[in-house]
Amino acid sequence: MINSYIKQLVQYGIKQGILDSMDYSYSINKLCDLLMLPSFNDIEVEELNIKEPSSVLKPILDYVVSQKIIEVDTVLNRDMFEAKLMDCIIPRPSEVVTQFNELWWKDTKEATDYFYHLSKKSNYIKTSRTDKNIIWKSETPFGLLDMTVNLSKPEKDPLDIIASKNKTENSYPKCLLCKEHVGYSGRPGRSSHRIIPLELNEELFHLQYSPYVYYNEHCIVLKNEHEPMNVSDKTFKRLFDFVDQFPHYFLGSNAGLPIVGGSILSHEHYQGGSHHFAIEDAEVQSEIKVKEVTIKKIKWPLSVIRLESGNRDQIIHAAITLFDLWEQYNDESVGIISKTDEPHNAITPIARKQDDVYILDMALRNNRTSDLYPLGIFHPHSENHNIKKENIGLIEVMGLAVLPARLQTELPMIKDALLSKKDLDKDNIHYEWKKELQSKYNNQNIAEFLHNEVALKFTSCLEDAGVYKQEESSQVRFDVFINNYIKELHHQ
Ligand SMILES: [Zn+2]
Repeated sequence: MINSYIKQLVQYGIKQGILDSMDYSYSINKLCDLLMLPSFNDIEVEELNIKEPSSVLKPILDYVVSQKIIEVDTVLNRDMFEAKLMDCIIPRPSEVVTQFNELWWKDTKEATDYFYHLSKKSNYIKTSRTDKNIIWKSETPFGLLDMTVNLSKPEKDPLDIIASKNKTENSYPKCLLCKEHVGYSGRPGRSSHRIIPLELNEELFHLQYSPYVYYNEHCIVLKNEHEPMNVSDKTFKRLFDFVDQFPHYFLGSNAGLPIVGGSILSHEHYQGGSHHFAIEDAEVQSEIKVKEVTIKKIKWPLSVIRLESGNRDQIIHAAITLFDLWEQYNDESVGIISKTDEPHNAITPIARKQDDVYILDMALRNNRTSDLYPLGIFHPHSENHNIKKENIGLIEVMGLAVLPARLQTELPMIKDALLSKKDLDKDNIHYEWKKELQSKYNNQNIAEFLHNEVALKFTSCLEDAGVYKQEESSQVRFDVFINNYIKELHHQ
């Protein structure tokens, strides 16, 4: 039986165009070696018509477990072995780069299409898992937001957690984003991982896709060196270099400070991709042009200033001016204090290109904490933690919610409680929220009602993260900042 699965896996690779038929015997032999089979019986097998390989990989992994080739049967151990199997049927890293570059000279979109296809068909992006994510859109006062409950990150087995504790500080690779993961067979299993070198601001970066795709073509651009996240003048040049090379993708950076930054601060990286985010449709509340740069204030739960220009040098200059001004800006009337014994003001910049116009959304952030808000004054507040407790990163700044997997079971529970008009247990994290929902619920379509309420709660998380609140008095202070900025731009 194992023979036929090996053959079907190789046939799948050829059919999907990720394996050259010239490498047929080579791949068969590599797989046999991995599965400790001394010989291969090349029998006729039915060619499967499958879009992704999990149905062939599963019986092979069952075999691997039954033969004790992997010692402990956990999701992670299976994923790690699976990556080794897939590595046998995909091109070497340099071949992927050569192919990508050849296509890029013709058409940049063809190049990313090729690489995205490879990342999915090699099961580096496990579409059988990501397809299970719960996705919907809900209307909010800020437009139609994208909501996702992401189920594709593997469940952590307690055995894996114990093993990962033994990882030392000077481990290899240094962090999850390091380029040394290409072909790396240790945790989390990146044998089939491929990356594409890029030059941004005359520095070496690498392009890869996120295995957990939060949206279409969710890519990560990581620095060649393991250096901490830091937004600086260079950031804007790198972002624009990227959108010049890949005009069909956006690219954004998380802020370089904890609380308002992403989940990995130890390695400089950006996130991009091809998805239309709600922020792009935000209503423009005011705009003014200084030289060739248009400065827009948009209606958004976070405080965002949008810069637009066809002139690359001028928009970079305007971005740097805004960044420098914000870094040391204080307005105690709304709780903005740029420094205590450490810096607090930061920016989440997101760049894209439309026709020949550069667009840069600059979200103003502050990571100060207080006794009342120990997790962050401008961070989701405790009454919203039942929906979202983690940092508001750049993807969420753009209006796409990445919500915890637990909601998959919790939302049906709330639904049942609403329909039967029963209170949840007092220690349930949704206890208060459910009571609030009960008073609003009036026999509407329950699924739609709940989805809309989750979106409103998420909007409230975003508003918590906004340095200027929606109230008139706070918006007036935002206008004061914008006026200061415009003055600064005129001065130069
Ligand atoms: Zn690293």
